[in-house]
Amino acid sequence: MTDQPSHLFYQSRNPRPFLDRGEGIYLFDQSGKRYIDGSSGAMVSNIGHSNPRVLAKMKAQMDKATFGYRLHFRTEASENLAAKTAQMMPEGLDRVFFVSGGSEAVESAVKLARQYKITQGEDSRWKVISRFPSYHGCTLGALDLTGYDPLTQPFAPMMRGMPKIPAPATYLDRDNLTEHERGLKYAEMLRDKIVAEGPDTVLAFIMEPVGGASTGALVAPDSYYGRIREICDEFGVLLIYDEVMTGVGRTGRFLAAEHWGIIPDIVAMSKGFGSGYAPLGATVAGSRIVEPILDAGGFQHGFTYAGNPMACSAGLAVLEEIESEGLVANAAAMGDVLIARMQGLMARYPFIGDVRGKGLLTAFEFVSDRDTMEPLPVGLNAFSQLVERAYERGLIIYSRRTRGGAAGDHFLLAPPLIITEAQIDEMMSILTDSLDAFAADAGL
Ligand code: PLP
Repeated sequence: MTDQPSHLFYQSRNPRPFLDRGEGIYLFDQSGKRYIDGSSGAMVSNIGHSNPRVLAKMKAQMDKATFGYRLHFRTEASENLAAKTAQMMPEGLDRVFFVSGGSEAVESAVKLARQYKITQGEDSRWKVISRFPSYHGCTLGALDLTGYDPLTQPFAPMMRGMPKIPAPATYLDRDNLTEHERGLKYAEMLRDKIVAEGPDTVLAFIMEPVGGASTGALVAPDSYYGRIREICDEFGVLLIYDEVMTGVGRTGRFLAAEHWGIIPDIVAMSKGFGSGYAPLGATVAGSRIVEPILDAGGFQHGFTYAGNPMACSAGLAVLEEIESEGLVANAAAMGDVLIARMQGLMARYPFIGDVRGKGLLTAFEFVSDRDTMEPLPVGLNAFSQLVERAYERGLIIYSRRTRGGAAGDHFLLAPPLIITEAQIDEMMSILTDSLDAFAADAGL
């Protein structure tokens, strides 16, 4: 297709070339140029592009029916996907509510929490504490939980302003605490916030177990996770894990929660769940939460397209692929390789201040000084400059201005979970060329 005035719009005007096709970790534009999808799109394409087994299973479903409204029919595709999801989730998270994306999964988690507390006679609980920075979605409810100023500020008058606590960005802390102590320090901020808000008004706490785009793959100290669970239990506050980005193997476990042996009360998933083959997400909880709601008349919530057989057949095929190809284990192994290669870059580029992540959700952050962790000057526009240098060279990476949008630049590397070590080397070679070009242009 040639360039012509576009009737389509997203966040901004779109200068990108037209996509032609995908193949594994690669995407090709219509000129034939090849790109490594180093961020799986927006951390979506966990099983890689155009997997023929998945396409065949989707086609088989499409030949039968693409839609049957859930109030009129049950479908094998949705039942089978729910069962497979329950089987792959940690024990106790076995009731599945389908949606079509991450924001919907988060909204559904919050409304599920609220309705559950109503069945328990705890109607006074409505506040959902979240973290700053964080990203939980763009619909107004999910946005109210999001801690990222550039996205939230224009809409602030339209939201209630849910309470926030700092995300545990311990890599920025310059104190004398151990990592263990720092983890506990940040967890206590939740306790303090619950007490300050009034425990009988607090419904839930929501967090990304490994941060996504807002923090750049932020991992908390191990001590943080267990203490957060204890604090939620102490006050009867439901713990919601937003695993929209981290779920379905991305961090080297099916759920990131499994790294710390935590069972959240409710989990929101999307992205890798449909893996780019269909818009799909899920809100998952245990029967303890779901049954009282069903007994009391049902969950007062639902989206028209939710659980449609076409999307569910894609989701089931994705989970089967994750399982049969051992992609969770590959994400763990290749994540170690990738992190080691990224740490290697720190010797060559003094402006890389931190490398972090889990599995194949990894990031590096630019600083002007590693001792103070001062960011690079905003005027350098590092976050878009490096992305462009890489894009020109055929590597797609994902960047954001970090620390809640105030300053700092981080870059996510999160390739499909099928990536091999040789492909990681290919990716790192393009990245190194791109960093050299960026450094030369920026005079660093
Ligand atoms: N939650 C997290 C952690 C995310 O990363 C995202 C998307 O980036 C969302 C929620 C929202 O998902 P969606 O864009 O599919 O609505």
